[in-house]
Amino acid sequence: MTDFYNQILENNKKWVETTLESDPNYFKDLAKGQTPPLLWIGCSDSRVPANEIIGAKAGEVFVHRNIANMVVHTDMNMLSVLDYAVNVLKVKHVLVCGHYGCGGIKAAMGNDSIGIIDNWIRHIKNVYRLHSKYLDSIHDETSRFNKFVEINVQEQVIDLAKTSIVQNAWRNGQILTLHGWVYGLNSGYVTDLDVNMSSNDDLDDTYKLKFSI
Ligand SMILES: [Zn+2]
Repeated sequence: MTDFYNQILENNKKWVETTLESDPNYFKDLAKGQTPPLLWIGCSDSRVPANEIIGAKAGEVFVHRNIANMVVHTDMNMLSVLDYAVNVLKVKHVLVCGHYGCGGIKAAMGNDSIGIIDNWIRHIKNVYRLHSKYLDSIHDETSRFNKFVEINVQEQVIDLAKTSIVQNAWRNGQILTLHGWVYGLNSGYVTDLDVNMSSNDDLDDTYKLKFSI
């Protein structure tokens, strides 16, 4: 076994001990259930830990992470998390959090084949193609990269609004707001992109669903 592997097992024991020292009922209380107000959809990147960034305790954030924080409407994993969060946990906020320096976004801006991930990156490339005119007009590569990170988050927020799950919740009068943030690896600060959506009013007519039941 590696030192690192043994270390994380040891870390866990220490964490349990110190946690119980400050609150003997910590785990008993958590085991009773969860009512998190927020669903976080973030990148798998190891440098963007959801709870830590926003100072949230265990039980406060329901988390879904994948490469480049994508909302792919045929992704059963994402749909299941979203459905459970909205319809069972009744979260009030769904937050897509991208980050500058995202490897998935960078890969989508290039043409190198990396492996099976190429097929996932294609979803990100579709976003680029949608905004290629604007993005191609940004000559500074870092600025174009940063802007693409932001645009991708905005598109994922819109993709959330397109889902039947979110539109049905809004139709039923459920209070649910979608947000888009970008995290700065260099600073630790997040930027609120102010792309909030709390109804399907701003959605392109093509995607507005009419529910008969
Ligand atoms: Zn990333």
